[in-house]
Amino acid sequence: MRSFYIKGTDKRYSIREDGNVIRHYRYNCKGIRVYKDEFCKKTKRKGSSIVSVTIYNPEGIGRRKVVNELMVEYFDLKLPDDCHSYFFDYKDGDCYNNGLTNIYYRIFTRKEYKYDPQCYYVDGDLVEKRCGTCGDKKVIKNFTVYPKSNTCSNECNTCRSKDQYAKIKSDKLRYSKSKKRTLKWNASDTGKKWRSEYFKMQREFMSNWYINGIIRHRGENPDHYTEEMKEIVRTQILMHREIEKQKEKG
Ligand SMILES: [Zn+2]
Repeated sequence: MRSFYIKGTDKRYSIREDGNVIRHYRYNCKGIRVYKDEFCKKTKRKGSSIVSVTIYNPEGIGRRKVVNELMVEYFDLKLPDDCHSYFFDYKDGDCYNNGLTNIYYRIFTRKEYKYDPQCYYVDGDLVEKRCGTCGDKKVIKNFTVYPKSNTCSNECNTCRSKDQYAKIKSDKLRYSKSKKRTLKWNASDTGKKWRSEYFKMQREFMSNWYINGIIRHRGENPDHYTEEMKEIVRTQILMHREIEKQKEKG
């Protein structure tokens, strides 16, 4: 098992990869070193999950050291990326088990999400993320990075706009204002152009948005459709388009 002497303790303490701090010797009443490996007692404040140990320097002055911070320092633990706030969590739920195989960085969220906004990396680059609200794993461009704090949103853009829309809708004044703005935008030349381009693109790629629209148009609720059923609708549309093409050919 890997272990490192804790600096500034004259090899009295070491930290092991299983997250335990070992005291290698103590002084007896005559001030002579007595060698015996012993576990340092881990303690934490009530209601907190931050576990620490007391470490004495050669002058006999004791300092509390947070065990996870020692693990970071001696086992060179790196944050998975720099666009999230992280905290340590424990796979087995036991905050006294600070071993390398038990502790992991978890994203700190202000809001309670239904799903864990897990990140996926390729060669150290953040490429995909699970949305905390809908639980879908999506490519990273579907998540907004707030430039000021350089934090990546834990909710996909679709869920975020849904959320914002719901907020606006619940506020009568804001809703009427936003509706007016939308109508004005829709009637403007840029708005018309943008809408037609957007629709063309959605139609071409048969996005979820487009498929949901088709289902609604048929008088049904897309929420009642599974992914498989939506795939069938896609195939239907493709076949229909193919028939239209053949007709055109004559
Ligand atoms: Zn989502």
